[in-house]
Amino acid sequence: MIKMQRGYRKRKFAAVSFDFLPCALTCKTYFARIVKSKKGLRKKGADMNYIVFDLEWNQCPYGKERENKRLPFEILEIGAVKLDENKTMVDSFQEVIRPAVYKKLHFRTREILDLDRAALNHGLPFPKAVKKFLNWCGEDAKFCTWGTADLVELQRNLKYYKLLYLLKGPIFFYDIQKLFGLVYEGEKTSRSLEYAIDFLEEGKEGQFHRALNDAYYTAEIFRKLPKDFVEEHSSIDCYQNPKSRSEEIHMVYPGYYKYISREFPTKEEAMKDRGVTKTKCYLCGETARKKVRWFSVNPKSHMCLALCPKHGYFKGKIRLKKTDEGRYYVIKTLKQADEQEAALIREKKEQLRKKRRMKRHQEKQEKNCTF
Ligand SMILES: [Zn+2]
Repeated sequence: MIKMQRGYRKRKFAAVSFDFLPCALTCKTYFARIVKSKKGLRKKGADMNYIVFDLEWNQCPYGKERENKRLPFEILEIGAVKLDENKTMVDSFQEVIRPAVYKKLHFRTREILDLDRAALNHGLPFPKAVKKFLNWCGEDAKFCTWGTADLVELQRNLKYYKLLYLLKGPIFFYDIQKLFGLVYEGEKTSRSLEYAIDFLEEGKEGQFHRALNDAYYTAEIFRKLPKDFVEEHSSIDCYQNPKSRSEEIHMVYPGYYKYISREFPTKEEAMKDRGVTKTKCYLCGETARKKVRWFSVNPKSHMCLALCPKHGYFKGKIRLKKTDEGRYYVIKTLKQADEQEAALIREKKEQLRKKRRMKRHQEKQEKNCTF
């Protein structure tokens, strides 16, 4: 017993995995990854908890030009509440962090954050605080945050201190800001936390922009969201994007399919890859033939239109994402579309083609004029 405990403690920070399976269909490789990461690392029957967390951070007080590129935002406070699977609040966490990179506060930070110099000087160094936090989260944690930024900055700070191995990614999580928009406003809006609290007529006891208060408010909103809807609309954080083909992610959500590719050295190479460009119907597995080939809408995104003989039109979207190291990966979605939407895609391609032609024509004329 003692021996087992010791072993367990030793492994605690070896490879804590916060992955979990959302209620969507997942591909075989993803299952394999979960099983592998579960193997020997999770206690059997460990309790699942929702961890609703919030971060406060600082940025370079002397402007973007002088910032440390590896750490544009330095975390100053972590606040979190733990909810059990019935969404009952069971614990809370708060830790102030002593700044080590930007010792002076940016004026924006000073404006919104109610933490003075003395409080910050008494804070823990980031590595200590974050280990304490991840330990408190437990091994079967489902993260919930307001928006997507906190998870990214948490990982970027971990990476800066060479501690990223403590939090394996890609990370499945619930974006409460996105879910609030979808449930109450019918679309992805990006409301402020305060707006959502007012909207739901929740009491405002503590001030905003202190990590624990914001986590508490986010948890209150999360508790009101319909459970099934939440499960079906989980998000994937790809700060730690798939590196190899076997790590690529294929997810089927209600109404659409999502694919997250491995890395490519350039955008062009990504768009040449067959796995990236293929349009397979996610409902029957048949190849959906392209009716409009992939075309670029802007430098970061492409669209296409495909047709499955059984399931009709699919609208394809590719977003090219750049990693911190300057490499690229792709997020592709395929969504069923009706005749009207199909016509819109055709029209869009035609418009873009005309626009480009006109631009080329203009450039040519301008060139001629100068001679
Ligand atoms: Zn089909």
